[in-house]
Amino acid sequence: MPMFVDTSPPGECIFCRLIAGEIPAAKLLETPLTIAFMDIGQVNPGHVLVATKRHVQTVFDITPEEAAEIAQTSQRVAFAIRAAFNPPGLTLLQANGREGDQTVGHFHQHVVPRHAADGVGLNWPRKEPAFAVIEGYAARLRAVLPG
Ligand SMILES: [Zn+2]
Repeated sequence: MPMFVDTSPPGECIFCRLIAGEIPAAKLLETPLTIAFMDIGQVNPGHVLVATKRHVQTVFDITPEEAAEIAQTSQRVAFAIRAAFNPPGLTLLQANGREGDQTVGHFHQHVVPRHAADGVGLNWPRKEPAFAVIEGYAARLRAVLPG
């Protein structure tokens, strides 16, 4: 799906440099733990990234407080996108790991205005296993749910 992959060496993360003001980005807002900005990777007008200020890579690395603030900042941005651009749809997308389509190794969530036939896509290959199989999956997850 994504065509850009950040290959910056460790310690020179592109988002950390952007947060530090070393490379250009249009910053929208900052909260104690998050920052919302727009960069050159716009897929539709008004596409915003919400990132942790702290350099962490994936959903497994953020604190519960960062998770909450990412969600709240993303919702604020979504309301602003609706008010300013009024797209008929909006997608929140947060990717983890190369196989999860993460292209910059700094935790972030996309808030993407969506339009009919805008070319943005995510394949969704439904498998529809038997219900007993699904119950087995749920049992595996319930057994290890944190907190
Ligand atoms: Zn970083």
